[in-house]
Amino acid sequence: MRRRDFLEWPFFTPAHRDLAERVDSWAAQRFARQAHDADAHPEDRDSVDAACRERVRDLGRAGWTRYSVPLDPEGPAAEFDVRALALIRETLAWHDGLADFAFAMQGLGSGAICLAGSPEIKRRYLPRVAAGEAIAAFALSEADAGSDVAAIKCSARRESQDGSDIYVLDGQKTWISNGGIADFYCVFARTSPPELRPDGSVTARGISAFVVDAQTPGFSIARRIDLIAPHPLATIAFTGCRIPAAQRLGAEGEGFKLAMRTLDIFRTSVAGAALGFAQRALDEALKHSLARPMFGKTLADLQLTQAALADMATEVDAARLQTYRAAWLRDRGETVTQEVAMAKMAATESAQRAIDRAVQIFGGRGVVHGETVERLYRDIRALRIYEGATEVQKLIIARELLNSARRA
Ligand SMILES: Cc1cc2nc3c(=O)[nH]c(=O)nc-3n(C[C@H](O)[C@H](O)[C@H](O)COP(=O)(O)OP(=O)(O)OC[C@H]3O[C@@H](n4cnc5c(N)ncnc54)[C@H](O)[C@@H]3O)c2cc1C
Repeated sequence: MRRRDFLEWPFFTPAHRDLAERVDSWAAQRFARQAHDADAHPEDRDSVDAACRERVRDLGRAGWTRYSVPLDPEGPAAEFDVRALALIRETLAWHDGLADFAFAMQGLGSGAICLAGSPEIKRRYLPRVAAGEAIAAFALSEADAGSDVAAIKCSARRESQDGSDIYVLDGQKTWISNGGIADFYCVFARTSPPELRPDGSVTARGISAFVVDAQTPGFSIARRIDLIAPHPLATIAFTGCRIPAAQRLGAEGEGFKLAMRTLDIFRTSVAGAALGFAQRALDEALKHSLARPMFGKTLADLQLTQAALADMATEVDAARLQTYRAAWLRDRGETVTQEVAMAKMAATESAQRAIDRAVQIFGGRGVVHGETVERLYRDIRALRIYEGATEVQKLIIARELLNSARRA
């Protein structure tokens, strides 16, 4: 089975196959020098920012970020092609983790606008996102509200200013990807105080969504955060940040549902990215084990190596089936909460194992800065945490299972 054979699976249309091949050829050319180019994986913050901006622009010019926003942004309901999103992410991740990140954030950062923005807001932001001319960010998490995201405290108070309706935002958001380089942020904030359940947990009511431009007075970058696999990330702050009420996305109090709907669409593409990293690790491990002389043979001739390769290939294949099944079901309009959670967990967890095996197969070289498998080892880690950590996916799967067992 060759790397791209899965494109023949019945989950895809001819247009998907064509798209995946075109993205692959483009990325192969765009990132051709990468393996030997120290600048391709910059570590210092300014270079990371510049490299990320450049990738957004290049992805836009090549036409790929057009898939991050629905084809008809003026339409009554946003239609995402989840298979296309996952295929693009898998392909980009195979070639370049930062390109995958840049692509993913254009979608996640503008998803709430696609789903609930007014026609005027859609017109103002989406064409520039699709063209790679504006950088988007999704600002939900807070220091004390990550997995327990309903516990957010950032507030949006409605006021009147010179006869116009405005909201005044106060508080902080953290772990915000593209924080520091984004042109705008889709921000989730409380428009009414938290309601507590008897057990002390917070309900999801009273949260609303807004678009905030990066130049708005009262918005600032509180702190930049440096990651093991660098991409722009920051804690952002709102201090009496006044925005027109027309910048609200959807109805007041409906923000939590909007955040979850946005994540529901893009979570499958996280699994796609994990597949790209895992497949790259498998390809590197195959190449290296065939080339590495050992005990008068090659590393590939040793049965323990073969066992590792077999485990890697089987896990990647299983995760890929789950991922594209979830994407296919979603594109058919079905409710796929359980399938998406399974795909995200299976793909990210198995990718971590596959990459770890590849590092082991490379021996000492596997932990040297600049080696592809070393970069993959760092690239994969955050995917098991963001957009719902593995433990959260397990809770979702179990909840769905138990609910249907109770109904039966
Ligand atoms: C690289 C990166 C990029 C990110 N980008 C963004 C972004 O662009 N926008 C944004 O809003 N957020 C972003 N995040 C935040 C991300 O979504 C959170 O980190 C994630 O939701 C986990 O929250 P936390 O870090 O606060 O960990 P916690 O919520 O404190 O979780 C700690 C641990 O507890 C586990 N846990 C959770 N619930 C349970 C349970 N019921 N039982 C047992 N264990 C449990 C978790 O799985 C985890 O292992 C990003 C994070 C990272 C690392």
